[in-house]
Amino acid sequence: AVESPIAQDVNPAQILRNVRPKLLIDGDFVDAASGKTFPVLDPRTEDVIAQVAEADAADVDRAVGAARRAFDSGPWRKMSGRQRGRVLSRLADLVEERAEEFARIETLDNGKPLAMSREGDIPFVVSHFRYYAGWADKISGKTLQTNGNTFAYTLHEAVGVVGQIIPWNFPLPMLAFKVAPALACGCTVVLKVAEQTPLSALLFGELALEAGVPPGVFNILPGYGPTAGAALVAHPGVDKISFTGSTEVGREIMRGAADGIKHVSLELGGKSAAIVCPGVDMESVVEDTHVALFLNQGQACCAASRTYVHESLYDEFVERAVERAQRATVGDPFGDVQLGPLVDSAQFEKVLGYMREGEAQGAVIGCGGSRVGSKGYYVEPTVFSDVRDEMSIAKEEIFGPVQSIMKWSSVEEVLDRANANPYGLAAGVWTKDLDLANRLSRGLRAGTVWINCYNAFDHAVPFGGYKMSGFGRDLGEYALSNYMEVKAVVTPLKDPAW
Ligand code: NAD
Repeated sequence: AVESPIAQDVNPAQILRNVRPKLLIDGDFVDAASGKTFPVLDPRTEDVIAQVAEADAADVDRAVGAARRAFDSGPWRKMSGRQRGRVLSRLADLVEERAEEFARIETLDNGKPLAMSREGDIPFVVSHFRYYAGWADKISGKTLQTNGNTFAYTLHEAVGVVGQIIPWNFPLPMLAFKVAPALACGCTVVLKVAEQTPLSALLFGELALEAGVPPGVFNILPGYGPTAGAALVAHPGVDKISFTGSTEVGREIMRGAADGIKHVSLELGGKSAAIVCPGVDMESVVEDTHVALFLNQGQACCAASRTYVHESLYDEFVERAVERAQRATVGDPFGDVQLGPLVDSAQFEKVLGYMREGEAQGAVIGCGGSRVGSKGYYVEPTVFSDVRDEMSIAKEEIFGPVQSIMKWSSVEEVLDRANANPYGLAAGVWTKDLDLANRLSRGLRAGTVWINCYNAFDHAVPFGGYKMSGFGRDLGEYALSNYMEVKAVVTPLKDPAW
């Protein structure tokens, strides 16, 4: 069902009143050295809502210099973990106090429904910083058993200056995934935010200073990938690059980091399989698999974009999935809707292109397939059935609201087909059969397997990819290892008996 695409009386200038559209370098909000700015659009209306300073190589150099000084001789690394934790938890409190303002900025900039920003993204960011505030004083090495006459232990030390590059689909949660564990470990950060969605990060940066993050410890560079992003990856003052984005750019990042032998971790794209087994409750699985794909307009790296349904349920499932997608409301994300617009025109064209390809390649279109309205990046929730694995809609990451439903008959077959895709980010399994759940969860080559649920994120549970979906893990204790060096310290024991 389609609401009027742009229905709400929203005042962008009012929402953005506290956002300083600049670079955050060494504790100051500054213009780009070049003086250049770039436009940020409202995806509901395609109107320009801000002109933001555009970082390039000269600004990267300034920001990395500040982060380097802050790491090498600044107070952050020397602060006790407990003190760092207090700063991070104060920061969480400050964001929470202004949660509504952040939610509105995020929806304006990205197009996601306000309810999602309010109930999902922003509370997640707050509790994520609290979670890592708790880790800051629990980072320690090990005492090791050696073969007799030495005493050996490890120190877990901050890796140094970290360059972080994030995408636009969950702007503030992506910042939190990267920045919270890095700061907890005592690193300093230069963050390149996505050019489509730089706004919430800038207000966040202001609050970080207010919370007591010292100047130079957390720097923010709005700007483009091939200029600011590539310069950050190549900069000799950076010790580690942590990237979330497409697999294609991930390859560039690895190449760019190779000369400096920098640490790299990559969270990349996905084409996650949802496997629906016989004997499940149809209504709840149709709902789960619908949300697993259509959440955030399908713009999620772990979107369940290959729905494999057992042949015994297939026809009924397709009928109900189409009916469910037809009921999904599309419209102004400031209203009461399930889907807002896509983020920008590139994404809009790409998704419409896949919808056309699906039809041209012979998939059966149950609903959707077109844009909504004539202004803004709105598209219809789309469901294809009779999809074959070799079709581009079944192979490639669409990153939009397009569900592809396929039929399976044997467990070996569905496992092989699910694993045949080069991505390996996540998977979902719906079954009441415990043995089958165990078999599939062990057989699937994916970084996360959700059983009888999907997108069940938790700060404590690691998230990341197998295969072309990258390496390294965000979230949980595991994420700390992205930001630490392990130093072995060995001393002789004069008298081993002691
Ligand atoms: P993208 O790769 O185009 O851009 C991501 C970031 O990289 C942006 O900040 C961009 O400016 C920057 N960038 C682009 N080219 C660069 C270059 N040559 N050097 C350095 N930086 C560069 O991805 P996107 O379109 O913004 O986001 C969508 C992609 O992100 C999807 O593939 C999605 O699956 C992936 N993603 C993955 C996860 C995960 O955790 N695995 C989470 C969210 C999104």
